[in-house]
Amino acid sequence: MLHCPKCGLLSFEFDGQKIYRCTHCDYEFFFNAATAVGALIIKNNQLLAAVRAHNPGQGQLDLPGGFVDPDESLEEALKRELQEELSITPSVMRYYASGSNRYIYNTIEYTTCDAFFICEVEHFGNMKANDDISEYRWIPLQEINLQAFAFNSVQRVIEKLINQYS
Ligand SMILES: [Zn+2]
Repeated sequence: MLHCPKCGLLSFEFDGQKIYRCTHCDYEFFFNAATAVGALIIKNNQLLAAVRAHNPGQGQLDLPGGFVDPDESLEEALKRELQEELSITPSVMRYYASGSNRYIYNTIEYTTCDAFFICEVEHFGNMKANDDISEYRWIPLQEINLQAFAFNSVQRVIEKLINQYS
């Protein structure tokens, strides 16, 4: 973004953190952190991990979840993502922790704030990977390699979970 949306001049400058400001007309645009959600689903001491189908982090592990759409709550977004990615419906979603990330998409670096929920799922019968994930894996908690996960916030929340469970 180089052109000011108000006056149209090539005078739009980024402060390097979150504000674009026009040096000509003082118009400001705030580039705030995007909200995302992730699910921690544990069964028999195994964590449900997703394999990312697309970049960033294609082929690396992630937690099921994704970005919150406009007008959605965190819970609505997580329910929708679990349905889209795995065709499962959580019966319980309990907020656990959050973390920040930097996420590059189409050469733009976005900052995100990711909220993680411990989810209980009663029926895994129809579970299948689609949408943003290419497959899913159950990984025993004691065998988890944090470096195999694409994002910092996800690595940190899983680390917290492992420390709490062991
Ligand atoms: Zn301007």
